[in-house]
Amino acid sequence: MPADPLHFLNAVYGYDSFRGRQAEIIAHVVAGAHAFVVMPTGGGKSLCYQIPALCRNGAGLVVSPLIALMDDQVTALAQAGVRAAALNSRLAGAEREQVWRDLESGALDLLYMAPETLLRPGTLNRLKGAPLSLIAIDEAHCLSQWGHDFRPEYRALDCLVDLFPETPRIALTATADAPTRAEIVSHLKIGEENSFVAGFDRPNIRYSVAEKRDTTRQMLQFLNARKGESGIVYCLSKRKTEEVAETLNAHGFTALAYHAGMEMKTREANQRRFQLEPGVVMVATIAFGMGIDKPDVRFVVHADLPSSIEAYYQETGRAGRDGLPAEALMFYGARDISLRRMFIDESDAPDARKRMEHAKLEALLGFAETCGCRRRVLLDYFGDDSGPCGNCDICLDPPETFDGALAAQKLLSCIYRTGERFGQAHVISVLLGEADERIERLGHDSVSTFGIGKEHGRASWRSIMRQLIAQGLVTADVAGHGGLSIAPKGRDFLRDKPPLNLRVLKKPKRGKGAKQGK
Ligand code: ADP
Ligand code: ZN
Repeated sequence: MPADPLHFLNAVYGYDSFRGRQAEIIAHVVAGAHAFVVMPTGGGKSLCYQIPALCRNGAGLVVSPLIALMDDQVTALAQAGVRAAALNSRLAGAEREQVWRDLESGALDLLYMAPETLLRPGTLNRLKGAPLSLIAIDEAHCLSQWGHDFRPEYRALDCLVDLFPETPRIALTATADAPTRAEIVSHLKIGEENSFVAGFDRPNIRYSVAEKRDTTRQMLQFLNARKGESGIVYCLSKRKTEEVAETLNAHGFTALAYHAGMEMKTREANQRRFQLEPGVVMVATIAFGMGIDKPDVRFVVHADLPSSIEAYYQETGRAGRDGLPAEALMFYGARDISLRRMFIDESDAPDARKRMEHAKLEALLGFAETCGCRRRVLLDYFGDDSGPCGNCDICLDPPETFDGALAAQKLLSCIYRTGERFGQAHVISVLLGEADERIERLGHDSVSTFGIGKEHGRASWRSIMRQLIAQGLVTADVAGHGGLSIAPKGRDFLRDKPPLNLRVLKKPKRGKGAKQGK
């Protein structure tokens, strides 16, 4: 067979032409160079190492994190006539020996392995004598200690650099902001000049963010307009995935839960149903996702705040891989922000890492609270330029903004006057001049800020409060009773009184997505 990439593209995969930077990357690796490939999910990363492995002598070693996913890939490749195998703990001793023999006799094109398997001394020793055409490291962001999906075994893959100095290494990921990219390239000694970073835009995905009011009702409204479509609802906790799945089932959806606490069998069965059956809603923690190869996922909902922009981009990237319109809807509320801040502060991580995580959280909040195009914020985070997209909630329905400096001053003063230990409901009642028994008992009906905020309603004050929390002016003690206090940035604000642009709270309305809502 001729070692021509295009030939393999036609003969093995049945495609006519390469997409994006595939041709360039493949030629580069076929020639024996290393590569670092960043492409959005669905961009066609697999071909970037599979075809070079077919073109070059020996087997391509593919390091991939999930065994289930590996088996799927191997089956698909075998059906296309590629000699592929996976070496994992599920194989019996004799089967494993057969894989080794095939590898050593040159009868394999691709060999998949999880990092744990690969890193065993026995495996590495035996691999040293085997003919390898290249080493592909899929989901390479897992080696980033500061990334959202760190796997310690991945970190140890740098031993391959010394063990196989002559073999091209190709690291691939869908998600990498600039620091993560730099970390991957340097850790695996790939060389900056070998980076191929494709555009990040997924124009068919519509991004929207909604404030949490009554999340169940809001979610049902969204889903009712999409009955019969496949989608994913991400939740923060295992328990919540089960609760939400139950609610959805009670409302006539086919919803399945998925989280790491479930039995492996149930988990895999649910994943298969989602993959094969149309119209299934998967209610999952982030344990669900890597390697889902379902082209027609029509929506991804975040019922809770995701962990970072990278995580959000990757999770929403599972929608619309077929290029048809898809939706990404994220819910968030003040408590999400405060909880996340607390998790970071109270973790055992070193200070440098905490600062990094806070910065990542700020970037995500910037996305949630932006008054400009959402896609622009996302792409900007990854270093791509773009104009307003015309296909996000903000572009389609721009929010009104107002100079919120006075409102912020009132709110901060009120938190101060009441002793910086009461929660949002109490502080807002004082602002509104709505005395209750507790307010009277505490004498808060006679503080100077009592009743100075009647120009806004309760819902607007909540929105203002959330924006001040998001901007770091107010701290909420979520571990205790939700008591609010003024953050250092809030003190600076009170001293300097800079202008402060805030968005006007949108009245909940029946938008396009809600036509069948009650
Ligand atoms: P990624 O790993 O980047 O998420 P995949 O490699 O799984 O993406 O590819 C996504 C889908 O696009 C797959 O179904 C794949 O077969 C298809 N694909 C990849 N390259 C091409 C191409 N050049 N032409 C047509 N389809 C392609
Ligand atoms: Zn936009």
